[in-house]
Amino acid sequence: MLVKKDKELIEQYTIDASNYIGDAQIVLIPESYLELSNILKQMSDSKTPVTFSGAGTGLTGGRVANGGVVISAEKFDRILDINESNSTITVQPYISVGDLAKELESRGYLYPPNPTEKTASIGGNISTNASGARTYYYGPTRNFIYGLKVILSNGETSIFTRDDQFFDGDYIEFNSIEGNRYRASKPTYKMPNTKHSAGYFSKPSMQAIDLFIGAEGTLGFIAEATLKYIPKPENTAGFIVFFKDMNSVFKYVKTLQGFKNKNFGKSYEEIKNVNPRLIEFFDDDSLDLLREKYPQIPEDARAAIWTEQEINAHIEDEVLNSWLEMIVNHSELSDETWTALTPSEHENFREFRHTLPENVYEIIARNNQHKVGIDAAVPDEHLESLYKEIVNSVNKYALKKVIYGHIGNNHLHANVFFTNEAERENAYKFYEEIIECAIKYKGTVSAEHGIGKLKTKYLRQMFGDDAIAKMRAIKSAIDPAGILNQGNLF
Ligand SMILES: Cc1cc2nc3c(=O)[nH]c(=O)nc-3n(C[C@H](O)[C@H](O)[C@H](O)COP(=O)(O)OP(=O)(O)OC[C@H]3O[C@@H](n4cnc5c(N)ncnc54)[C@H](O)[C@@H]3O)c2cc1C
Repeated sequence: MLVKKDKELIEQYTIDASNYIGDAQIVLIPESYLELSNILKQMSDSKTPVTFSGAGTGLTGGRVANGGVVISAEKFDRILDINESNSTITVQPYISVGDLAKELESRGYLYPPNPTEKTASIGGNISTNASGARTYYYGPTRNFIYGLKVILSNGETSIFTRDDQFFDGDYIEFNSIEGNRYRASKPTYKMPNTKHSAGYFSKPSMQAIDLFIGAEGTLGFIAEATLKYIPKPENTAGFIVFFKDMNSVFKYVKTLQGFKNKNFGKSYEEIKNVNPRLIEFFDDDSLDLLREKYPQIPEDARAAIWTEQEINAHIEDEVLNSWLEMIVNHSELSDETWTALTPSEHENFREFRHTLPENVYEIIARNNQHKVGIDAAVPDEHLESLYKEIVNSVNKYALKKVIYGHIGNNHLHANVFFTNEAERENAYKFYEEIIECAIKYKGTVSAEHGIGKLKTKYLRQMFGDDAIAKMRAIKSAIDPAGILNQGNLF
């Protein structure tokens, strides 16, 4: 096991991409599950707080310890098995989502979840139930997890799969391989009907594995994951369409969302009309931020939408014609549309999209501010209202902002910037107003980044004291010493 005791070395683990800073006594880097298990048992016995660290790209301070011991997953970075007969890949938690996707692509497969940050670890993705642009069509990380091996706070190991039983009574139960039985009250609070990554999963009938996905390291260490993959589509067509005004954007998005129900359940090879697998938004300030690197953005564009659809040679012409017709019907700037059909053109689109959050995090670091960014999603009918309330609030507080993200899921990232105390206060007032607005519209306060330490207040606001007490009871049942990832969620 590697041990890091020097202050400067420890500091690399007590910060994440949100710029939230904590501290720790020591960083331990186990090289085997036995070592990890022994440390956890020791920490549990001595009630020493433990915080699990992935790649540190989290945006809510989840991996940032406030004292105690950090356990880094970095030595668990191997692919263990690819099972082509049931389309699953078993990996250790520190493999990056980018490397995992590349490995599968080289074999002709696709791992559908595609969170933007490719250096994030799979363990981190599972712990935050990460999403990506393709979540619009395929759903979040949760939908692609077949099995998990979890090391619990007392050092025991449990293995879960999607073949395990569903629980619809009052309790969820599971065994450790050491033979002990664990029993937690089944959550009864209602989750919003949106993309959602905030607090423990809750459904009337659910499996034990679901508690550990999105648990932000509070219930155990994700030691191995068996993930589902699908065949890679033959090709994809991508479009970045520019707009002069937001009304046209909302009409376009509504039209695109409408195709989802029409095409539900069909394979992409059968669909000869529009069938986007992602719908991504860039507002006027996002485009302005991108203009330095991309001067070819049309001068009078005030917003853009990026979409992608899976195609093959048989349907390509019909699909492209359907898109063309729709784009002409919705955008005054249809002639300026960017199209991607080749791998390098798609890579350029992905880079265009990824440059935006990167620019945002650079500004945040330069301003030496915490990230104040909305990660809210609302039901379809409230998308436009959510957007308008964000813009009104930004204007009211005279803040600089960018709004972008997964508009197909009615999920917007609105980031605001500040450089002094007065602006900071206004940024938080803005944040609280929009959180209230998301809750009012029966949406979520966190659609993909999780709660970590920065958003605990809003988890409580969203679900109420009763639900938080239920989440705490689940944690006490599975981590009775209460040592794991203290300060995350509640
Ligand atoms: C530029 C940028 C773009 C981003 N885009 C997206 C996006 O599109 N979608 C999205 O969902 N997120 C996005 N994120 C956020 C971030 O990448 C995700 O939250 C990611 O899942 C974090 O993974 P990580 O390995 O960096 O985890 P960390 O930041 O190290 O940890 C995150 C949480 O997971 C826990 N954890 C990590 N590993 C384990 C483990 N093995 N067992 C138990 N708990 C563990 C940690 O304790 C912590 O609570 C983005 C971040 C950046 C900086």
